[in-house]
Amino acid sequence: MTALLPNFVSGRWQAGTGAGITLLDPVLGTALVRVDATGLDLPAAFDFARRQGSAALQALTYRERAALLAKVGQLLQAHRDAYDAIATANSGTVKNDSAVDIDGAIFTLGQYARWGEALGDARALRDGEPVRLAKEAFQAQHVQVPRPGLALFINAFNFPAWGLWEKAAPALLSGMAVVVKPATATAWLTQRMVQDVVDAGLLPAGALSIVCGSSAGLLDALEPFDVVSFTGSADTAAVIRSHPALARHAVRANIEADSLNSALALPDATPGTPAFELLVREVVREMTVKSGQKCTAIRRILVPEAVYGAAAEAIAAKLAKVSTGNPRNAGVRMGALVSRAQFDTVQQGVAQLARTAEILHDGRAQPLVDADPAVAACVAPVLLGTRDADGAQAVHDVEVFGPVATLLAYRDVPHALALARRGQGSLVASLYGDDAALLGRSALDLAASHGRVHVVTPEVAQVHTGHGNVMPQSLHGGPGRAGGGAELGGLRALDFYHQRSAVQASPPVLAALGL
Ligand code: NAP
Repeated sequence: MTALLPNFVSGRWQAGTGAGITLLDPVLGTALVRVDATGLDLPAAFDFARRQGSAALQALTYRERAALLAKVGQLLQAHRDAYDAIATANSGTVKNDSAVDIDGAIFTLGQYARWGEALGDARALRDGEPVRLAKEAFQAQHVQVPRPGLALFINAFNFPAWGLWEKAAPALLSGMAVVVKPATATAWLTQRMVQDVVDAGLLPAGALSIVCGSSAGLLDALEPFDVVSFTGSADTAAVIRSHPALARHAVRANIEADSLNSALALPDATPGTPAFELLVREVVREMTVKSGQKCTAIRRILVPEAVYGAAAEAIAAKLAKVSTGNPRNAGVRMGALVSRAQFDTVQQGVAQLARTAEILHDGRAQPLVDADPAVAACVAPVLLGTRDADGAQAVHDVEVFGPVATLLAYRDVPHALALARRGQGSLVASLYGDDAALLGRSALDLAASHGRVHVVTPEVAQVHTGHGNVMPQSLHGGPGRAGGGAELGGLRALDFYHQRSAVQASPPVLAALGL
């Protein structure tokens, strides 16, 4: 029997009392560890986090909390090799893909440590200047104060490291205790990171808790000043939004759900131009990094009708060179999907898309490297395409969470922008071209339906941060279908964990706020 990973709640390591769920190696199919949350007293655990964790954090200044984040980042860096090994085994990712998750987590912690340090020795934030209400003698000062509850994170399987820390960094910096419930399939890495931080005694008691396994009872234990941040599928998001505890207590919720992101070649990005090459390179990278299991991955590629054939050929040629299989083999560029269940879902998704689009490149015909196709959750890249982008509704609807994208032909720029919006709100769109005026206009148009617009021109070829890379400096989250969430974006992320209030008083009293 594999080891049972304990949960950490109420300041103690506690094993679940059930049989547990076994986590598997998605390439070899072998059992790794078990998780179980049966029998935990979640209301008591949440109470402990609020009363002990948040209270202790809020007794510190932003600068002091920032120093804790810096220490957590250093600790994770010191254990990096162990995390890489867990990611290989449990996520089936090649080293570069594991690094996106692990190093992304460490980088984000470091950024928030720096930004927090600059907030200094305050315990509340000033929000704008005082405004006169009636006379000069009576004014309103808006303030942002840490919320007294806890921050519950319900995370997706694809980023067990970054998914925790990109949320925990701003939450802890804001003074809110964190309870994380990682997705079961890849909970091991999240659990190990929390264990390392807890064992090192870096954070006050109650500041960081972890529940591994079932989500049952988590939402019921939420109270009015808590926040919940969810990342996962649109279906689970709908369940969370309609939970009675959220409706009754107006618990603040941030939802990051699935997204039909697009890459758009503007009409001047014709074959042979650097902009066209950049599009092709980015599409192939996005389809293959983490086997396409990124919420920001390119799912739809929009190109002018005249360019459709050349784009199909260029993308397919690069995809044909991608080796798929066991991430332990140095010759493998792309590892596995997270599980065999996900493998089945991706195959079904491809079949669904193939009813409205044709398959232009099917890597599944190539043999896997060092992996048994009957066991491994490995899927090679599949490129689909259709010249009838308007008629192919499934392409704008179905997020196949794997190395799969669809090429679409557009008539003119307004048509292309309208097609991007058919995703009903997405995390990110990228634009490729060399006409600054057209790129600027198109970016503002897309901004209304996208959380981020990534513009790739030849002069940024070497420096742009990548369509799918979520940088802590920039907003992450999109409207509509993408969940309507807003994460990161530098110190903007702190808004979610703070309460805005207007203090109305005389200037001497406002001065005494010490902001
Ligand atoms: P999921 O099935 O929706 O699960 C997400 C999380 O919700 C898991 O921790 C899951 O726990 C938990 N959960 C399931 N049912 C629940 C319920 N009734 N109440 C409370 N929690 C519940 O999503 P996934 O398959 O892990 O992730 C893939 C999806 O996430 C993709 O669609 C992707 O687009 C999206 N995603 C979005 C972003 C973003 O930032 N927008 C980032 C990454 C992924 P169990 O694992 O124990 O079931």
